[in-house]
Amino acid sequence: MDLLSELFSAGVWDTEPPEMPNWIKWIHRNMSENHCDICLRLDECWFSYDNKPTYPHHQYCHCILEPLSYDEVLNNATSISDYSKFDPYLFDPENLYQHGKQKMFENWGYTIEDSQWLKEEFEKQALEKYVSGEYKLGLLNKYGQRISIRIEIPRKDKKDTVSFISGWMVWPNGKINLSTPYGGE
Ligand SMILES: [Zn+2]
Ligand SMILES: [Zn+2]
Repeated sequence: MDLLSELFSAGVWDTEPPEMPNWIKWIHRNMSENHCDICLRLDECWFSYDNKPTYPHHQYCHCILEPLSYDEVLNNATSISDYSKFDPYLFDPENLYQHGKQKMFENWGYTIEDSQWLKEEFEKQALEKYVSGEYKLGLLNKYGQRISIRIEIPRKDKKDTVSFISGWMVWPNGKINLSTPYGGE
C-alpha cells in the first residue's frame, strides 16, 4: 500500500498511522562576506532527508537543515514545465535542435499535437515522485541542483508502456522545473 492510502486507511479505520517521511528545507545563512554560489542556490530548497545534497556541503558551510512537515510538502510542492520544452524543443518541427529525440516519441505514436498532454502528464508524474522522494540527485553547481525522475507513458501504437528519465531543476519552496524532457532510458 502506498503512503497516501495508508494515511487514508489510518484515518478511516483508526489504525496506527504510518511514519511520516522526513523532509528538510535547506537554509543558507549569511555568516561571511564570501557567498558560496552553490549553497545560495540550495537556499530554501526542499529535499527528502534521505535524498539530499551532501551536508554539510563543504568545510565551513554554515547552512542548516530545517525540518519541514510532510503536510507542507504534500500541500505546497509544485512542478512546472514550459510548453516550449515539448513544442518546439522535443518535437523539433523546424529541425533546429537536431537531437533526434522526437523519433522515439513518434515511434510510440506521439506527435507535436500531444505537447499539452505530455506537459501535464510530466508535471503530474514528476510531482508525485518528487514528494515520494523518488528522484535521483544529479549535477549540483552554481546553477542549482538537478534531479532526475522516471516518467512512464502509454504507447499509442500498441498496448504497452515506455519509461525514460526526465531532468528537473530544484527551485526554492518545493518547486521543480522541467529542464530535459528526455534524458535517456
Ligand atoms: Zn557553500
Ligand atoms: Zn553551505
